[in-house]
Amino acid sequence: MPEIDRWADAKCRQQEPDAMFVRGSEQNKAKETCKSCLVRAACLAEALDNQIEWGVWGGMTERERRSLLRRRPMHSWSQVVAAAEAHAEEQRLPLDLNGYLSLEEAG
Ligand code: SF4
Repeated sequence: MPEIDRWADAKCRQQEPDAMFVRGSEQNKAKETCKSCLVRAACLAEALDNQIEWGVWGGMTERERRSLLRRRPMHSWSQVVAAAEAHAEEQRLPLDLNGYLSLEEAG
């Protein structure tokens, strides 16, 4: 059985390889790319679980991910990100992990 390349649909594959490893206001452009990416949740979980230090992954900059990891040290992000994605789909909103976690904290 052929292995499925789940990153085949990655939106950033259509760009220069360095386009997600930018600084300053260029990061907002990179984050825009992630908004319509079909593998955004998996990408974000991968970056958080592996504490990837550089680049925009899953719509979050390295600084945003570092801040989240400091506030919420967690063993595995995959389930949390999947729950946040399901919530976003239910609400017909874009994936917003910080917003989802705030809702969760508020109970
Ligand atoms: S979510 Fe990940 S795979 Fe998709 S465009 Fe952004 S960095 Fe690339």
